[in-house]
Amino acid sequence: MQAAKQVLRDVFGYASFRPGQESVIAAILRGRDVMAVMPTGAGKSLCYQVPALVLEGITLVVSPLISLMRDQVGSLIQNGVRAAYLNSSLTSRQYALALDNARRGVYRIIYVAPERLLTEGFLDFAMHVKIAQVVVDEAHCVSQWGQDFRPGYLNIAPFIARLPVRPRVSAFTATATQSVRKDIARLLELQNPHAVTTGFDRPNLYFEVRREGNRDLALLRFLGEHRGQSGIVYCGTRKSVEEVAGMLVEHGIDAVGYHAGMGDEERQRAQEDFVSDRAPVIVATNAFGMGIDKSNVSFVVHYQMPKDLESYYQEAGRAGRDGEEATCCLLYQPADVRLNLFLIEHAQDNDKLDAQTQQVVMERAKERLKQMTYYATGSGCLRARILTYFGEKPARPACGNCSGCLMQAQERDVTREVGRIVAGVAALGGRYGKALTAKVLCGSSDPRIREKQLDRLSVFGSLRGEDEQTVRAMIEELIADGVLALTDGQYPLLRTGPRAREALLCEEPVRMTLPEPGRSRVRPKPQVDKGLFARLTRLRRNIAEEQHVPPFIIFTNATLRDMAVKRPRTRREMLRVDGVGEGKMDRYGDMFLRVIREYEDE
Ligand code: ADP
Ligand code: MG
Repeated sequence: MQAAKQVLRDVFGYASFRPGQESVIAAILRGRDVMAVMPTGAGKSLCYQVPALVLEGITLVVSPLISLMRDQVGSLIQNGVRAAYLNSSLTSRQYALALDNARRGVYRIIYVAPERLLTEGFLDFAMHVKIAQVVVDEAHCVSQWGQDFRPGYLNIAPFIARLPVRPRVSAFTATATQSVRKDIARLLELQNPHAVTTGFDRPNLYFEVRREGNRDLALLRFLGEHRGQSGIVYCGTRKSVEEVAGMLVEHGIDAVGYHAGMGDEERQRAQEDFVSDRAPVIVATNAFGMGIDKSNVSFVVHYQMPKDLESYYQEAGRAGRDGEEATCCLLYQPADVRLNLFLIEHAQDNDKLDAQTQQVVMERAKERLKQMTYYATGSGCLRARILTYFGEKPARPACGNCSGCLMQAQERDVTREVGRIVAGVAALGGRYGKALTAKVLCGSSDPRIREKQLDRLSVFGSLRGEDEQTVRAMIEELIADGVLALTDGQYPLLRTGPRAREALLCEEPVRMTLPEPGRSRVRPKPQVDKGLFARLTRLRRNIAEEQHVPPFIIFTNATLRDMAVKRPRTRREMLRVDGVGEGKMDRYGDMFLRVIREYEDE
């Protein structure tokens, strides 16, 4: 393991292993087969890249997507590792050249598309070199249970069987379900694999659910709170991708759309704009994501509720892969449940199954939807809900880093308050928004109120003593229930809704779950000098553009942040920054050191 630690430090520039990595690496080095189930962003690549550089011989990595291979190989080369990929993006000349290099032992790590494995040229190469390990990345692609079944993955076992010496075989996936895991071990013919499943928790992700009446406004508000950050907005259908992307552009947000119905070129361009940080927001169907290795995704918003927590967690998990704080926000509306139910009941794939199996499949899908709906509508810790769903016991009942925890739910009788809110909204005559209405009701001393003489109204201060945030939360609930309504437009005004009368006449007590006043989201941030960080980002961008690679391949945000905190002045200090290995030090170290020095001398 000593050699592995040295590679981790010198080549990749990391001080320590993440959970699960050490155990996987040790097993591979001992010659064992491995089956590793680790969530997205856990750092699976390093688990086989480190042994690849310690072991004698070549490491073959089977990977499903061209873009994935390109980014991985790009990153390795930046770290000074000799690596290449063999897939259909190469011309036949390039392919022959790469294979020739490979034969001469130029590469330590070769990424290959599964369809290539059994071709004559590749087999001939593989028979005549020493292959130390075969790695199967995104191994769930071998399973027909998985959403990403790829027939080419069935070539892997026959390919390995034809090699003169059986190398160690390792399989990596983020898909946790039992049936998929069984398929992986069986179809890849793993031999007594060392199984590692790391915890599914992603502590750097903040989870939240927003149940506001109008999704577009909720989304705009969210993006307003995350200005300057980059992220994904997932939509359920192609049509809504186009609508939402259009809506964002109309509001001056640099968003691009992405879905499988677009032309290849257009889609490619959208992806590149996003990955290179030219377009901070991408609006996409779930067709977008698996091939994307962009590590600085600061948020993932789900515009609609997906069909189950598996899909949700996989897609949401694309945020914060660099280990930085990131947010996963689900916009929920009751209509989402109905739409998903409809989709389950009309699922087309089920035609091929017999009636009984069809029934079972549908029942399971409905049960999963129910769990997803509990997540979206329930109270309490969201993280605990996710982990429990995946069969893991949460370390604490409340994580303190999700909207469920921070809005520590308290159910209370609000019959009287509801009456006063409706009366207040009626008295304000639909001329003001939610915030000002809440202020009037709470009797706030905001100067705008005096200016507009709203303090002379009888409803002024009718909820004095209540917290403004709490009143706003009640207003939100009443909007969702149709008791109040918002007008369209950028500055929506609050008025009474179709069910206002009903609510006033209702004799039943009204109960609501409301946030505990005074508790807001607290997220400690390390002391990063923003000015310096901005300069480092600019330098990274310039280098990336010059080299035609995505910026995160040069350095991740986490690395630049660490640089802005540690402010290295010498080569030695620079090597102590997380993510700076010797390869990157040689390539870029001096440029970044110069920018830091200039900044400090100003
Ligand atoms: P996965 O394939 O599991 O989704 P990746 O292999 O793409 O995750 O790694 C995600 C990010 O984590 C990458 O930016 C990688 O450089 C970083 N990373 C991996 N291992 C470590 C480590 N031990 N320390 C710090 N960062 C790491
Ligand atoms: Mg990966």
